[in-house]
Amino acid sequence: MPVKYIFFTGGVVSSVGKGVTAAATGRLLKERGFKVAVQKLDPYINVDPGTMSPYQHGEVFVLDDGAETDLDLGHYERFIDIRLNRVCNITTGQVYAEVISKERRGDYLGGTIQVIPHITNEIKRRITMVAKTTGAEIVLVEVGGTVGDIESRPFLEALRQMRSDVGRENTLYVHVTWLPYIKAAGELKTKPTQHSVAELRSIGISPDMIIARSDQPVDNSLRDKIALFCDVDRRAVVPMVTAENLYEVPILLEDIGVADIILEKLGLEARQPADLSAWRRVIEAAKQPKPKISIALVGKYVELHDAYMSVREALKHAGLNLGVDVDIRWVLSTELERGKGWELLEGVDGILVPGGFGSRGIEGKIQAVRYARTHKIPFFGLCLGMQLMVVEFGRHIFNSEQVNSTEFDRSTPYPVIDLMPDQQHITDMGGTMRLGLYPCILQPGTIAAQAYGTDRIDERHRHRFEFNNVYREQYEQAGMRFSGLSPDGKLVEIVELADHPFMLATQFHPEFLSRPERPHPLFTAFLKAVTAHAGMETQAAAPGEPAA
Ligand code: GLN
Repeated sequence: MPVKYIFFTGGVVSSVGKGVTAAATGRLLKERGFKVAVQKLDPYINVDPGTMSPYQHGEVFVLDDGAETDLDLGHYERFIDIRLNRVCNITTGQVYAEVISKERRGDYLGGTIQVIPHITNEIKRRITMVAKTTGAEIVLVEVGGTVGDIESRPFLEALRQMRSDVGRENTLYVHVTWLPYIKAAGELKTKPTQHSVAELRSIGISPDMIIARSDQPVDNSLRDKIALFCDVDRRAVVPMVTAENLYEVPILLEDIGVADIILEKLGLEARQPADLSAWRRVIEAAKQPKPKISIALVGKYVELHDAYMSVREALKHAGLNLGVDVDIRWVLSTELERGKGWELLEGVDGILVPGGFGSRGIEGKIQAVRYARTHKIPFFGLCLGMQLMVVEFGRHIFNSEQVNSTEFDRSTPYPVIDLMPDQQHITDMGGTMRLGLYPCILQPGTIAAQAYGTDRIDERHRHRFEFNNVYREQYEQAGMRFSGLSPDGKLVEIVELADHPFMLATQFHPEFLSRPERPHPLFTAFLKAVTAHAGMETQAAAPGEPAA
């Protein structure tokens, strides 16, 4: 069968959940027996979000191949339970970098390089790469931003051309818009949607489906109106009311029949009936009242929860699996340094220090680690969180506050975390860390080995610094176990404390591989320790590997 393309554009305003909509649609198609992949087109000029502040962009999501990508890729992987690759996130920066380097090589000798056709051709080449590299039969493509943005024009032009390149019957345009609610009139308004569709038409794209997002129920007369003014089949005007829980979106779309309409429009028939029963069980479980546990998440971007998207989702997955509600207390590490916010740590059931970069707020995080260790509160550290657990333990064993990572103090007499040798001479910041999937061997009899129920794992990384092996023996003697190591034994991947209910941290980012129906074993192990600490019984979750 020829590759089918579904293009998602956004209208009216950003942040209406286009990424989740694309992800959920992908899931419904996968359930019907098709191999799918999702690609995000980001109109900004950065080559990738790896160098951007989380304040700008939220979390950077890392793929198996080490690509640093938009957080929507996290939604795609979690909702569809797939593993994507580098071509699944393209940016204006990548497209121009490629075209300009070809120009310098002389590939276009004699030609004038222009947005059309050179930039648009490069965009189309990258879109077609998705099916070639993933084997997907249906490729869902989401364009970042909103129709009308200057910077997304070349992307939209490329999508327009795709229809004649690959055939009308192999393309579908879905426009995701927003219906604002006017309180004084007590009404939802369709006018912005009409304008947005008109704008899309003016550049040559006629949507085949409109997904109308709103905070209020959308009645049939509104659907009729949108269908009439926007010239879309009434059936293909899909109202989507804001869901309390993101994971309800596939169910909402399924119940409206979105996947069947899409298949029909693409001339496809479902290969198998969609079975969303496991997914429905997760949603049902989420709705049940459950005992609450509190986790303090200590970071420097906690005002922006999107900066820790995958961590939050992984906690949610594990909580659902264990039948508890995870109440995240967002703790600003810079406040802890000023002696403020400590009341958030009082009585908390668990403490988590996630990944991070740069020295701001570091001492506050180290103090939070100390609090967890000395108060015997379950602790889970991720990447920087592991490095700070090592620093804090070093300060304890060497009885010196000068113990540090060389990321924060270049001249520390105790560089317990140091640059990896192959990072010493790197000067470029973008894409130069130790990135992506690497194997790790688990040491028998450790908490980590027990949680995974296996002795070899592969996890995603994003770091420059690592445990300094000069200190291994002293740490071991003082009670730290190196429960996960690289296969050559040289890199420390997991540490845990023997004399503590649960104090474990990883150099990698387990949060990227957690799935709603298959929580990550380390998050499950952490939450089990947390519930035990809170004096609760939970249903035992079986050990299992993260997403295959
Ligand atoms: N800043 C640390 C490093 O580069 C940790 C990175 C992270 O937490 N992702 O090694």
